[in-house]
Amino acid sequence: MYTAVVRHVVQPWFCPCFLPVVEEHGGQAGDAAPEIAIREAMVREQIEARGVRTATVLRAMRMVARHEFIPVENRAEAYDDHPVPIGQGQTISQPYVVALMTELACIGHGNRVLEVGTGSGYQTAVLAAIAAEVYTIEIISELAHRAEDEFARLGYSNVHLRVGDGYRGWQMAAPFDAIIVTAAPKIVPPPLFTQLKVGGRLVIPLGAINQELKVFTRTPDGYNEEDRGPVRFVPMTGRAQREQESEEP
Ligand code: SAM
Repeated sequence: MYTAVVRHVVQPWFCPCFLPVVEEHGGQAGDAAPEIAIREAMVREQIEARGVRTATVLRAMRMVARHEFIPVENRAEAYDDHPVPIGQGQTISQPYVVALMTELACIGHGNRVLEVGTGSGYQTAVLAAIAAEVYTIEIISELAHRAEDEFARLGYSNVHLRVGDGYRGWQMAAPFDAIIVTAAPKIVPPPLFTQLKVGGRLVIPLGAINQELKVFTRTPDGYNEEDRGPVRFVPMTGRAQREQESEEP
């Protein structure tokens, strides 16, 4: 099952905690001039043109070598405007969706970020190019181990990876400034709410067939919720899926 392409253009959105200076983490082994030029076009035509404006996000999208996270047989499609298969029935999200979710998470340089759904490791690498520490959980061990090898090869020393069900989050590393979920449950797994700092943001696709990208911001006495438009992600498996199935007639 593949993540469908998102073509809508979101309203211009400005991260309230935006910081203009970017520290770079990790090298980009295997990056060559043709890929750098293709990536520049990807950022200009697919991402900036749809309204992503946060400088730290645009810089990370220009810097991270997306093709390095894609299996060799699909690498020719690395910079295309759609999701690409990565094996095990999963996909790397469309570049615009990665940029949009990163912008909505409003990540600053000293931040600790949790990602649920490592997949190829590409979104993780984009987060790690901005945040101080990134914790990422993948339920399919083959994908997790492949991503772990890429992080080591490319020199991402601020990424911490765990194989398991992201439903429970990562309590030992909490609280987080931001949480990004890249697979869709029907409702937010409750532990993810509790592992967010006050002022922290949870970016998550919710729903089965008709999914909405949601942003929850934790407040001292609850949460604010924003809708950021229709999306289509692979379903969240594990406990989220079991709970959903047990509710169905
Ligand atoms: N962020 C990824 C990337 O850049 O390649 C794309 C992720 S793919 C759309 C969604 C991923 O979430 C898949 O690799 C899938 O195995 C994983 N996943 C689904 N349910 C999960 C769960 N309960 N816990 C952790 N990972 C999960």
